[in-house]
Parts: sequence; structure tokens; C-alpha cells
Amino acid sequence: MAYDTNNIFARILRGEIPCGKVYEDDQVLAFNDINAQAPTHILVIPKGAYVSMTDFASKASPAEQTAFFAAIGKIVAEKKLDDAGYRVIANAGLHGGQEVPHFHMHILGGRGLGRMLPEAA
Ligand code: AMP
Repeated sequence: MAYDTNNIFARILRGEIPCGKVYEDDQVLAFNDINAQAPTHILVIPKGAYVSMTDFASKASPAEQTAFFAAIGKIVAEKKLDDAGYRVIANAGLHGGQEVPHFHMHILGGRGLGRMLPEAA
């Protein structure tokens, strides 16, 4: 899938839409999810134009990939999520339920999150 430069996270990166910023460096931006599913629900995005985890893993430079995962670690530490635990999720494509076609990972925590997936019907 080609990258859509008008997706909502691209617009946040260009400063066209505000966000509740949690973390930023040269390569990464993180902000609070507008529809939080847990007391802590943060979205971490690379600043580069990548559609999905697959796109990021195959095309982002080692420096971008390192910065991305380092940022997740810094945010987890800053929010003191390590002791009680947390979950990191990347949705991709139709079956993954991805709504925004700019690669992102969700950091969720602050309460028991239950099973990873509902039981299959
Ligand atoms: P996904 O289904 O993995 O693509 O998740 C997209 C997430 O982006 C959802 O959890 C939305 O609540 C969140 N979201 C959509 N628009 C915004 C926005 N303007 N600011 C913050 N989060 C947003």
C-alpha cells in the first residue's frame, strides 16, 4: 500500500492537528490516544513515512528502528509501567484492525489488561 500523506498521523507530524505529546526526538513522536482504552494509552510513531510494521521493518534505517524501540523503552520507564506491566500492540492491515495507515505502536497500561485476544467465536 502506498503511503497516504494526508493520514491523520502525518497531519499531526506536520503540526496541522494538535496532539497530547508525551515524547519527541529526531526520529519519533509519541502522544496520548484520543480514545484511550486504558489509563495509559500512548501511540508511538516514527517520523518517517511508513504504512505498517512490515513497511517499517523492511525500509526504515537501523538508526530509525533503534530510535523507535528505544523511545518505547524510555516512555515505559517515564510512565513507571514496568513494575505492574503493560502491553505493546501494532495493528496491521484489515485483519489487524489498523485504522490509521502510518505505522504506530500502542502502549497500554495502568490496569489489568486481561487476555491478549477474545476467545475465537
Ligand atoms: P489503529 O487501529 O492501530 O490504527 O489505531 C489508531 C488509533 O489512533 C486509535 O486508537 C485511535 O483512537 C487513535 N487516534 C485517531 N486519531 C487520533 C488523534 N487525532 N489523536 C490521537 N489518537 C488518535
